[in-house]
Amino acid sequence: MKISRIDHIGIAVENLEKTVPFYRDVLGLAFLGFEDVPDQKVRVAMFAVGEARIELLEPTSQDSPIAGFLQSRGQGIHHIAYSVPDADEAVKTLTEAGVDMIDAVPRPGAGGSRIAFIHPRASGRVLTEICQH
Ligand code: ZN
Repeated sequence: MKISRIDHIGIAVENLEKTVPFYRDVLGLAFLGFEDVPDQKVRVAMFAVGEARIELLEPTSQDSPIAGFLQSRGQGIHHIAYSVPDADEAVKTLTEAGVDMIDAVPRPGAGGSRIAFIHPRASGRVLTEICQH
């Protein structure tokens, strides 16, 4: 498994419309657009920062994992995603190393990516995503 950069940082927010202006207009980040990710029951707003991105996540359903996160921890950093060339190979390597995975196989993420989450207990309580484009 080869990780060469941070792909994006996921931030859980209550309301995208209220939060986007700060990142787009105040920080001046390049706004890449909105996207629904039904698999995670979220609506995403994506921004570019050099090669990395900021991913704002708003729940679209009460049973979204982001809704649960907002209820228990409030708005804030939700996960860090690392870019990998091959998500299947990364999941296999991590699983063979005994790492607790939330996703045993990669699933669809924003922007046509393939993603898998590592369980926070394996990573110092930071939800960690691997992401292949
Ligand atoms: Zn993500």
